[in-house]
Amino acid sequence: MLKSLPCRCLDCDQPFKLHFAEPIPANDALVKLLNGHCPLCDSQRIEMGMNLGLTEDRAMRRGVTLDQRIADWINNGDVGLASRAIVDYMTLGEEPAHAPKGYESLRRVALLIDRIPEWADRMGELARFPAWRLIGEEWKTLIENITSLDREMRDPPELKEALDQIFA
Ligand SMILES: [Zn+2]
Repeated sequence: MLKSLPCRCLDCDQPFKLHFAEPIPANDALVKLLNGHCPLCDSQRIEMGMNLGLTEDRAMRRGVTLDQRIADWINNGDVGLASRAIVDYMTLGEEPAHAPKGYESLRRVALLIDRIPEWADRMGELARFPAWRLIGEEWKTLIENITSLDREMRDPPELKEALDQIFA
């Protein structure tokens, strides 16, 4: 059941979320996506996923306290299963079930930690979960590599290739 669906306009490049009055099944959300319009240019050419760059993500943020920033990320951020699992681990101590499956989910984790930098030093704790071992152990190196190859964390083909091999 989904309350909103992150999207991006293929014509004007605007990232936005389709919000639903009531939580609806994923299939119904996709139908809404197919019939949706861009709030900026009214185009119907929209794709799923906001694919936010770092500057865009930073510009959209609201909230000061930890709770406010977490709530804002859940409502307005680029939320995926792995990044959501990190929030549940950091706040509730729940085992993070969904590890990143590729660059797209890894970059959503990186965008989350950019919003909540107080969690960066705790990323090493994830190394004790087998699916997260590499990310936990190598977090600082991964982030340095990502941001040095692509400041915006958006569409870096070389990096994507290298990381896809790591996650293969
Ligand atoms: Zn548009």
